[in-house]
Amino acid sequence: MISVEKALETLFQLVQLMSTQVVPLRYAHKRVLAENAVAPRDQPTFSSSAMDGYAISDMDAGPGAMFDVIGEAAAGHHFSGSIELGQAVRIFTGAPLPSGAKRIIIQEEVMCKAKQITLGKKITQSEFIRPAGGDFSKGFKIKANCRLNPSDIALLASMNVAEVTVFKKPVVALISTGDELVMPGENPKRDQIIASNTFGLAALLEDHGANAKILPIARDTHLSLKSVFDLTHDADLIVTIGGASVGDHDLVAEVAMKHGFKQSFYKVAMRPGKPLMAGHFNNTPLVGLPGNPVSAMVCGHIFLVPMLHAMLGLGQAARETMRAPLAHGVEANGGRKHYCRAILRPDGLHIAERQDSSLLSILAGANALVIRELNAPPARSGELVEYLPI
Ligand code: AMP
Ligand code: MG
Repeated sequence: MISVEKALETLFQLVQLMSTQVVPLRYAHKRVLAENAVAPRDQPTFSSSAMDGYAISDMDAGPGAMFDVIGEAAAGHHFSGSIELGQAVRIFTGAPLPSGAKRIIIQEEVMCKAKQITLGKKITQSEFIRPAGGDFSKGFKIKANCRLNPSDIALLASMNVAEVTVFKKPVVALISTGDELVMPGENPKRDQIIASNTFGLAALLEDHGANAKILPIARDTHLSLKSVFDLTHDADLIVTIGGASVGDHDLVAEVAMKHGFKQSFYKVAMRPGKPLMAGHFNNTPLVGLPGNPVSAMVCGHIFLVPMLHAMLGLGQAARETMRAPLAHGVEANGGRKHYCRAILRPDGLHIAERQDSSLLSILAGANALVIRELNAPPARSGELVEYLPI
């Protein structure tokens, strides 16, 4: 049995960085940039008004000063003349600053009568000008190896970058194994259950940038497992679920090995998730997850997500954890790293009483996995502990 850390290190050695593709900006959300995106222009390219008001050239004008309004500038419609002393141009937010303009007087501080304005009693001492290049200058970069969020997409659009080079989404083939499994929506017989793991894992992996493919359920026979393995040729990562223990019907490793699987490890000192295995299936990394639904999901969080991140150029690191106080005391931990389903509330972390690895309702109600190290001593209420937000 190896440690979680050693298992993760080995998994990183199994995966490869994805190749790249160019996508239109509209499809770039949540993708990982593979090349720097560079601004070909300043933003804004021209100085403009930050408010609706009047542009004047006189920096010192105070209350009561009067100006002739000689024209108008609006967003998309510049004023082509020039402003002299004693003159003003009616201006709207986003309009290019007219030549000669030094400041904007906001309209609330001005009285206007027959093409003449008089400044009010109180004038805000701000120019209300957005200077050219005030947001960013030509050559500004969004650096490669970051996952694009909605703000990045807006920024890229304002840079006039219409397409970006990103890492291809890793294709992850998800294989449920078991004679007892049927698909959601089917009518299960007395001794059958619904295959839930592939659906949960597909959602988790897609959240982290994968293109997840749920393959047909493999039955607990050599022939069935082999025929589903035959459908994995386009996968960048193969994930099997179940059939990885030592029961008479746990055939995944045996069948995989017969067809080119080279195992790197089997069994990890963790709870839930001990019977985890991994290696190369021909040239494709393969992870064999335990079948218990919570084990499969926890292993997805702890191992598959970091593997995806590595494949997408986001670095080789365990998931980032946080710390929060316990809302109650917990007992000492045993010889396996424990990922306890818990709820983080304002008063701290509440660890669920029932931690059986088959209880999806507990997992779904949790928003944190409290991480208890091997042989950790008891912890008191209020003690800061490590957790993974989920
Ligand atoms: P196994 O590792 O195949 O012995 O499976 C352990 C437990 O997980 C058994 O109770 C299985 O019925 C259950 N299980 C296996 N695969 C799935 C799946 N895809 N969805 C839900 N439960 C599963
Ligand atoms: Mg099974």
